[in-house]
Amino acid sequence: MTERTSESALSNDYSKLSEQARSFLQGEKQLFINGRWRSARRGSTLPVVDPTNGREVARIADAAEEDVDAAVEAARHAFESGPWPKMRPHEREQLMLRLADLIAAEIQPLAEIECVNSGKLIGNTRLFDAELSVHTLRYMAGWATKLHGQTMDLSVPYLPDQRFSGFTRRTPVGVVAGITPWNVPLCQAVWKLAPVLATGCTLVLKPAEQTSLTAIRLAKLCSRVGIPEGVVNVITGRGSVAGVALASHPGVDKISFTGSTNVGRHIAETAAKQLKRVSLELGGKSPVVIAPDADLDIAIPGAAWAIFGNNGQNCCAGSRLYVHTSIFDRVIEGVVKIADEMQLGPGLDPTSMMGPMVSVAHRSRVVQFVSSAVSAGASLLAGGDILPGPGAYLRPTILMGTPSDHDSVQQEIFGPVLNVFRFNDDAEAIRLSNDTRFGLGASIWTSRIATATRYLEAFRAGTVWINTHNILDLSLPFGGLRDSGIGQELGQEGVLSYTQLRAVVMRQ
Ligand code: NAP
Ligand code: MG
Repeated sequence: MTERTSESALSNDYSKLSEQARSFLQGEKQLFINGRWRSARRGSTLPVVDPTNGREVARIADAAEEDVDAAVEAARHAFESGPWPKMRPHEREQLMLRLADLIAAEIQPLAEIECVNSGKLIGNTRLFDAELSVHTLRYMAGWATKLHGQTMDLSVPYLPDQRFSGFTRRTPVGVVAGITPWNVPLCQAVWKLAPVLATGCTLVLKPAEQTSLTAIRLAKLCSRVGIPEGVVNVITGRGSVAGVALASHPGVDKISFTGSTNVGRHIAETAAKQLKRVSLELGGKSPVVIAPDADLDIAIPGAAWAIFGNNGQNCCAGSRLYVHTSIFDRVIEGVVKIADEMQLGPGLDPTSMMGPMVSVAHRSRVVQFVSSAVSAGASLLAGGDILPGPGAYLRPTILMGTPSDHDSVQQEIFGPVLNVFRFNDDAEAIRLSNDTRFGLGASIWTSRIATATRYLEAFRAGTVWINTHNILDLSLPFGGLRDSGIGQELGQEGVLSYTQLRAVVMRQ
């Protein structure tokens, strides 16, 4: 394989873009508030950069407090009056299905926009941003008509002469602030939007500053299907300004946040002071354990893709690999080979196997973890080097011999960096696996049911995978333990977290 090094070979070729994606990129990007498009009140904008070449491809509005106020006010108004609260569940379901159809008709341009904006591969943005958004809306649309309470025959023992019955109702929590990260932008936006629509809440969405384009496109599609004005509002801008204003806004009833643990902690503090509901999908440092009896034909590529999929910019990335000493050399040789053979290149080129990181600034942070690990005694088995030029490329990197308490083992790197370790017995592998503050995902690779059972009980993680990694499904609640967050997204628990239970007592 010949390494691509020239700037042009590493840069997206915009002549490959569809006409729809091209004209969207060229058009003005504004805030979407109360069903209308408008600039930030102060008129400021922020650049949107293609990470394959560092070029500005668009500008977005840079919202400030007054814009957030207007969006929350619109969402509050739409929640309390107008057509939305009167709409029946099946009407909300139909709107969601129509929105899913519109996205389905725009898969290619949406995937292209996401690809140019995030640096991810077009195959990835197609599957995990555009297509998964369609599946999410269709799955969640079904919930709109299935949000029931219960009925009870009440005892009320202190009033023996009277009879009562009781029932519970599921009602929408109200105005939701959805704050999302840059690694799976459209999908994360829809993971907030879909339960909001299914339950009858309203939304102010604040996408990540680096990757807001598909959320803006999504707002356009919402207005086209006839979702009433004010139900969905999109505020672009900086987390430190618009994000803070949104999370602390007294008109918000629930914050649904996906992002880093540090920001999540701030949001939890804000929510606690105002007694707002909050769900936090935060970072991870997920272990991958390969037992001596594992099928290595699946475990070796499985371990490589657990970390290198989505360029390691994945909350569940398998960033710590523990391999039994009896198979260690063979596994590591296989994973290193996959890393070495990975063709880096721009996302629009279908032959690229890994794109750049989301930004040069983020890559610098990732590289800092690697050089610090090497200074602490780690050896580099693969990668560690950046590609020349303005793109944010980093070769897939494998470290061995990093001390267990080093930051690169304990902290989330959010890049294509794997630390590998050997273990002698299950007790040691379990102890090491659980030895971080995170608890998002963990995988065990084995052909023995007894081994799988032992690990699935012992791992401290919100999701445990057996002979696979990173598999999420819309019907399966997803969430983390400890520093990986609070609450769940998706599945029944995810949708119910956008409702509140109310009790009714009726005298017979
Ligand atoms: P981030 O820096 O925490 O930002 C996430 C979002 O919060 C962005 O929209 C950001 O805006 C905004 N924000 C920043 N500071 C804020 C504040 N003080 N108050 C309110 N909002 C604020 O995370 P990221 O760098 O975008 O994404 C990477 C992180 O997301 C990783 O830690 C990853 O593990 C996590 N993640 C978790 C999951 C999961 O489901 N568990 C899924 C995907 C990603 P700006 O972009 O303008 O800063
Ligand atoms: Mg950030």
